[in-house]
Amino acid sequence: MFQKILIANRGEIALRILRAAKELGIQTVAVHSTADANAMHVRLADESVCIGPPPSRDSYLNIHQIVAACEITGADAIHPGYGFLSENAKFADILAAHNITFIGPSGDHIRVMGDKIEAKRTAKRLGIPVVPGSEGGVTDEGEAKRIAADIGYPVIIKASAGGGGRGMKVARDETELSVALDTARTEAAAAFGDDAVYIEKYLEKPRHIEVQILGDGRGNAVHLGERDCSLQRRHQKVWEEATSPALNGEERSKIGDTCAKAVADLGYSGAGTIEFLYENGKFYFIEMNTRLQVEHPVTEAITGIDLVHEQIRVASGSGLSVTQDDIRFNGHAIECRINAEDARTFVPSPGTVTTFHTPGGLGVRVDSAVYSGYKIPPYYDSLIGKLIVHGRNRVECMMRLRRALDEFVVDGINTTLPLFRDLVGNPDIANGDYDIHWLEKYLAQKP
Ligand code: ADP
Repeated sequence: MFQKILIANRGEIALRILRAAKELGIQTVAVHSTADANAMHVRLADESVCIGPPPSRDSYLNIHQIVAACEITGADAIHPGYGFLSENAKFADILAAHNITFIGPSGDHIRVMGDKIEAKRTAKRLGIPVVPGSEGGVTDEGEAKRIAADIGYPVIIKASAGGGGRGMKVARDETELSVALDTARTEAAAAFGDDAVYIEKYLEKPRHIEVQILGDGRGNAVHLGERDCSLQRRHQKVWEEATSPALNGEERSKIGDTCAKAVADLGYSGAGTIEFLYENGKFYFIEMNTRLQVEHPVTEAITGIDLVHEQIRVASGSGLSVTQDDIRFNGHAIECRINAEDARTFVPSPGTVTTFHTPGGLGVRVDSAVYSGYKIPPYYDSLIGKLIVHGRNRVECMMRLRRALDEFVVDGINTTLPLFRDLVGNPDIANGDYDIHWLEKYLAQKP
């Protein structure tokens, strides 16, 4: 097992990783920018190193400084969290060259899944159902039209190097297709420095359902069921739940087993998420995230398995602590992402949090690095905390969520808490009756 882990992240996820390391008796090193000198993850870590000025590119993305911090403190592994360097294959390669363990998959696995065309090809080869579309990249307009006619309109054009919901264009007929192809390629080249695009069938009313997997890197893997992340705004997840209100046990085992087998065949190591769109009882692969995800606590709530413990175990060579037969799905969990943003306009609202009072009680978990008097810096993502609620079933979970939201007090800044207080009383949400467009439509028509 490792002696000391460096956490190359900030905010709630840095704290989350720190907690897991402490439980395993591992020393922790926090790195931070000058803007985060008073952050909770810095206070709670055994050691800390300032790695640069506030902008992420000079601090949390500064590979040179992070490797230096590791060497100064003698840390033997790095946990990258999510975002920042977590899906940077070069970072994983550099650490390997320095004999520092990257707590995550190999650089090669990150690379395969980071390129969307390559990822889709790999998924298909491993028996994962994919969205009908082009076999690879598309450059020629005639070819694009042939493929679109074949799969049927509407179609979506996506950038191979895309991410964060950017670089996608929908076309409903041939005329729209030629315009969309041009804009998508120009935008992809400008945003990602790579103009490769591909075409797939545009699904009108899908849900976003993703499967959590863990691989031991030696050909064994398990799945921990799914999360339903259909409530999104601008392709960003807002509310996530496990299990999905749309799946039955049989569908869960079937898609879960398919995913576990695929990552086992790949020899994948660590935690990963295989994301699907789900429509009319069918799954369609969209991408794989080769890291821990923001919404991982809902899976932890229903399985009782600490995903960060498992990541650390696998990276250290201790293997997984569970087999598929050990994994049971117990009750229902919902996560609300609390952002420092206006709940109506979603304009960021950095500043000083004067009061921060979190809810508690049975089945309530709050993952946050905020405290009363903490000043939220304007330089980073606006996620300041996550409220995760568990109940024996979805009805109990919703009742508990409503009560927990009532108890939550954040003063001094705007947050998205009012949005959740509104959603928890909505009949569609109560019935689990929503797709990926539901929230945008709801927000657009709200008086
Ligand atoms: P990114 O990596 O940029 O997040 P994804 O491929 O994961 O891109 O897609 C992000 C979101 O875009 C999905 O959650 C879904 O809302 C929408 N989307 C992607 N592909 C399709 C499709 N074929 N049909 C309909 N919506 C899609």
